[in-house]
Amino acid sequence: VLDARGVHKSFGSLEVLKGIDLQIAKGETVVILGPSGSGKSTFLRCINLLETLDAGRIQVGGRDVGYEVRKGRLHELAADELARRRADIGMVFQHFNLFPHLNVLQNIIEGPVGVRGQSRAKAVATAQSLLTRVGLEGREKSYPRQLSGGQQQRVAIARALAMQPQLMLFDEPTSALDPELVGEVLATMRDLANEGLTMAVVTHEISFAREAADRVVFMDKGVIVEQGPPAKVLDDPQHERTKAFLARFL
Ligand code: ATP
Ligand code: MG
Repeated sequence: VLDARGVHKSFGSLEVLKGIDLQIAKGETVVILGPSGSGKSTFLRCINLLETLDAGRIQVGGRDVGYEVRKGRLHELAADELARRRADIGMVFQHFNLFPHLNVLQNIIEGPVGVRGQSRAKAVATAQSLLTRVGLEGREKSYPRQLSGGQQQRVAIARALAMQPQLMLFDEPTSALDPELVGEVLATMRDLANEGLTMAVVTHEISFAREAADRVVFMDKGVIVEQGPPAKVLDDPQHERTKAFLARFL
């Protein structure tokens, strides 16, 4: 589903991504670990075209993110097509970005109706089943401020899923939550991983990586240092930088 090759990104003289290659197969859950400033968020933002690449290529579902090939050359997409392709990629951030003036149902159906052109009835039916899936049945009419942080984050997940994305990106979805609310969000994400959603998750929750990831990727200073099955990377890391990073969690 994801095919990223040779991704480079600099901010001014600061080279943040120094050639990232990462493929994610359909149904795979990849957890990305790494120290602060290693470029994890920047990489996710490149996938979703919130940042443009300096070099390299990223494809989702076999198509270039933000570009199309015409006559053998890459051309930037028009805004409406870009919006549709971006909708193939669901993203959940650290700070739930629900619309505060819309209730839960309105938050979820806004994209499917506005961007995908779904009928309201269909979008509402989908929203209701998604709310059940994230454990928030019956909360359609609540406003974000009436929900806990963990509930808001689960609505944000439901809202992203409503677009039927090919790929879900999570950037530290639990790190802004009170500790007692972290578990419910991770449990929802674990269910999604088990249901076969294709996900890339940046998190510092090592236990989630251990239980839900098919593969763990360790990034440092703009490169992928090592990757492999959780048991391998977490319990038998090969590189000093991975060992040093994981030692903090013991
Ligand atoms: P964290 O774990 O703290 O979230 P991260 O691995 O997600 O870290 P990034 O947010 O990708 O790291 O940032 C990597 C580097 O790029 C940092 O040094 C950061 O200051 C820099 N950076 C990120 N975005 C920008 C920007 N828009 N302009 C300038 N520098 C940026
Ligand atoms: Mg980050």
